[in-house]
Amino acid sequence: MPEETIFRKIIDKEIPSDMLYQDQYVTAFRDISPQAPVHILIIPNKLIATANDIEVEDEFLIGKMYTVAKQLAKQEGIAESGYRLIMNCNSDGGQEVYHIHLHLLGGKTLGKLIA
Ligand code: C5P
Repeated sequence: MPEETIFRKIIDKEIPSDMLYQDQYVTAFRDISPQAPVHILIIPNKLIATANDIEVEDEFLIGKMYTVAKQLAKQEGIAESGYRLIMNCNSDGGQEVYHIHLHLLGGKTLGKLIA
């Protein structure tokens, strides 16, 4: 079993966060160290450590993360101007917290990652 991370405490509200959304499947909160004017993390309430650990049974959950992300983009007023959704995987991908999360980034023109 993978080990729980700081995100479990955020989901369980044991530590404070700027939480924007929570239901029985997913939780979304503002990143503590924002890399853009809008930087929100959308995470499943269930611990899935990395993208490599996503199973077929998680497909609904992963889809839910995206529908919540687009709702939050609209709520934050960046749906039309645009935004980026990123999930880092393992060390080369830049993952630091081993509980999968979608980064929702926007509110400025983001540099191209892929030319
Ligand atoms: O993709 P990666 O694992 O690097 O992203 C982890 C993100 O979690 C970072 O952007 C970091 O600022 C954020 N974080 C947070 N609150 C914490 C710990 C980490 O928002 N308590």
